[in-house]
Amino acid sequence: MDGKRQHHSSFQQLEKLGEGTYATVFKGRNRQTGEFVALKEIHLDSEEGTPSTAIREISLMKELKHENIVALHDVIHTENKLMLVFEYMDGDLKKYMDNNGERGMLKPHIVKSFMWQLLQGIHFCHENRVLHRDLKPQNLLINNKLQLKLGDFGLARAFGIPVNTFSNEVVTLWYRAPDVLLGSRTYNTSIDIWSAGCIMAEMFSGRPLFPGTTNEDQTIRIFRIMGTPTERTWPGLSQFPEYKANWQMYATQPLRNILPQIDEKGIDLLQRMLQLRPELRISAAEALNHEWFAEFHQPAHAQQHHPQQPMMHPHRGYQQHTVPSQNVYGNYQG
Ligand code: AMP
Repeated sequence: MDGKRQHHSSFQQLEKLGEGTYATVFKGRNRQTGEFVALKEIHLDSEEGTPSTAIREISLMKELKHENIVALHDVIHTENKLMLVFEYMDGDLKKYMDNNGERGMLKPHIVKSFMWQLLQGIHFCHENRVLHRDLKPQNLLINNKLQLKLGDFGLARAFGIPVNTFSNEVVTLWYRAPDVLLGSRTYNTSIDIWSAGCIMAEMFSGRPLFPGTTNEDQTIRIFRIMGTPTERTWPGLSQFPEYKANWQMYATQPLRNILPQIDEKGIDLLQRMLQLRPELRISAAEALNHEWFAEFHQPAHAQQHHPQQPMMHPHRGYQQHTVPSQNVYGNYQG
């Protein structure tokens, strides 16, 4: 028996957890340690096999270790299958909002904790020059300690920005940045910040901010709220492949009118994340330093007097809405 097969069988495959853009996800158990894992079986074109670039990209992800990134334990490559072994998480943000939100709306202190963790994860990846490119509530995973971790980091790089899922469902455009919708190929870290802004609005309101159906519809929905850009407000706009000279001109709506649930500082941060022009969007590092997160910015020495508490009862799962203490997620020093 070859090494790969032995390796494969060191995990017992349990129930199916879900289907993602690239993969079917199963719960699994490490036969040696008893530890639960998520087994992600990547669907490969049977003709072509796994592109070696994809394997290289994914193997790099094993080095990307952070408490707000779902850990990739192993990559198992057999003749016609690619199996990624991830740390097991209890659910994703979409399910969490459906099950725990009041009509999908989360409590403000939960939103703040999730945004802090989301931006920590994004910041770490951006520092390591990895973009996510497809952030959405379904691939933000949450465990019963209310830790939030980013899943699927790097997969878009390995396989390309998804257009369709393997089952040919259309990939959601709701979190896609306007520059990407306009056909930019020189997008950068700012595309993940746009997605984070959309997710923040959705956690507060319980509804997606820009639920578009097509590329065009998605773009127009963004303009209806953020205002239609012009060559004057966005120099170079007319050079984008998807630029239309006959866009309906919409005035900018104040976000506080659309999202009355959000406090003033939160609106200020959101405004900075949802800038149409990518170069004006706030970075993850700056966002973590924003005063909306002031309560997470206590000086490091304060921690010594407050040793880390066990945060939550592991069996009560999502019922418990405790704000994780700041030292659990690390003290951001920008
Ligand atoms: P994805 O391909 O990441 O979109 O995964 C599809 C679904 O499988 C997600 O929405 C989750 O519900 C579930 N899932 C993915 N990764 C994990 C994991 N590490 N632990 C538990 N469930 C997961």
